[in-house]
Amino acid sequence: MLNLYRRAVLGVAGFAPVAGVAKRYGPRLGARRFVAGDDAAEALDALVELRSSGREVIVDVLGEYVATADAARAMAAEVAVTIETLTRAGIAPVVSVKPTQVGLALDRDLAAEHVLQLALDAEAAGGSLALDMEDVRYVDGTLELLTRTWAGGAARTSGVLQAYLHRTPGDLEALIAAAPDPRALQVRIVKGAYAERPDLVHGDMRAIRRAFVALSERAWRAGAQVNVATHDERLILETAAFVRGANLSADKLEFQLLYGVKPGLQRTLAEAGHAVRIYVPIGRDWYGYFSRRLAERPANLAVVLRGLVG
Ligand SMILES: Cc1cc2nc3c(=O)[nH]c(=O)nc-3n(C[C@H](O)[C@H](O)[C@H](O)COP(=O)(O)OP(=O)(O)OC[C@H]3O[C@@H](n4cnc5c(N)ncnc54)[C@H](O)[C@@H]3O)c2cc1C
Repeated sequence: MLNLYRRAVLGVAGFAPVAGVAKRYGPRLGARRFVAGDDAAEALDALVELRSSGREVIVDVLGEYVATADAARAMAAEVAVTIETLTRAGIAPVVSVKPTQVGLALDRDLAAEHVLQLALDAEAAGGSLALDMEDVRYVDGTLELLTRTWAGGAARTSGVLQAYLHRTPGDLEALIAAAPDPRALQVRIVKGAYAERPDLVHGDMRAIRRAFVALSERAWRAGAQVNVATHDERLILETAAFVRGANLSADKLEFQLLYGVKPGLQRTLAEAGHAVRIYVPIGRDWYGYFSRRLAERPANLAVVLRGLVG
C-alpha cells in the first residue's frame, strides 16, 4: 500500500507543471521543516543546536541530476564552500554528495575529479565525504566512484547501500573486497527512497527490513562501521541488539536520521549514549529531496495540503 502511495507521489512530483507550482510555493508548503537553510552560513544555528544536544551532523548541499558540466562544476564549488564554512565554524566537515550533482550522469571522469577533490578537502579539515546512493541507473557508477576515490587517497570516503534492491548483497561483497582495509570501511545502510521497477526491489516492508538487517550484520562481520540510517524503531532496536550481542565496539555503529524527522527519537538515541548523526540538507534545489520525504509518509502530504489552503 505504502509502495503504491510512494510511486504515486513520486510520479506526480515528476510532472513538470506540478514541479513548477511547488517550487514557487516551496517554503509555504513546508520544505523548511526538512531543509536547514539556503547555505551553510544560514544553517549554522541549526547545526550548533543539534551538536549541543549530542547529535553530530552530516551536511548535504541539495542538488541532483545536473544537465551540464558547468552546473556540475558550480555544485562542486558550492560543496567546497560548505566544507570551508563548516571548518571555520569549528565543525568537522562531514558532507554528503549525490553523484549526479557533480556530473555522474554526464561524464564519470568529471564526477570522479570533483568527488576526489571534495573528499580530500574534507579529510584535510578533519572530516570526510559520503556518497549518497541515487536511483538504480547510477548504482554501478557510484560504486566505481567510491573505489576510485579510495584509490586517490581519500580512504575515509563512505558509501550507501539500499536494502530494497535485490542486487545489494552482491554490491556489499564487492565493496568489502575492494576496500583498502575492510575494518576502515564505512557504509550507510538505508531502505531506499526511489520509485524503482518492481522486479528490481523487494516488494514488501518485511523483506526490506530483513535485507536491511542482513546487510548490516554482514558488514559488521567484515569489520566495517555501519551507519544505520532509518527512523524505523524496530530496525534501530534490532541492529543495536546485534552490536551488543556480538560485543562489537560502540564506534562500529552510528545511527543516522534526517533533519526534521522524528526529533524526539533522535534525542532519545543520543541521550542513551549512541553515536547519532543528523543528515542536514541545505540549499535551494530542495524539490526532489522534499518529494521523496513526502512519498515516505502520507501525513507529510497533509501538511503540504494545509499549507496550500491555509
Ligand atoms: C541519514 C539518511 C540518509 C539517507 N540516504 C539515502 C540515500 O543515499 N539513498 C536513498 O535511496 N535513500 C536514503 N535515505 C532514505 C531512506 O532510503 C528511506 O527512504 C527513509 O529513511 C525512510 O525509511 P525509514 O527507514 O525511515 O523507514 P519508514 O518505514 O519509511 O519509516 C519509519 C518511521 O519513520 C517515520 N518517517 C519516515 N520517513 C519520514 C518522513 N519523511 N517524515 C516523517 N516521518 C517519517 C515513518 O512515519 C515511520 O513511523 C536516507 C535516510 C536517512 C535517514
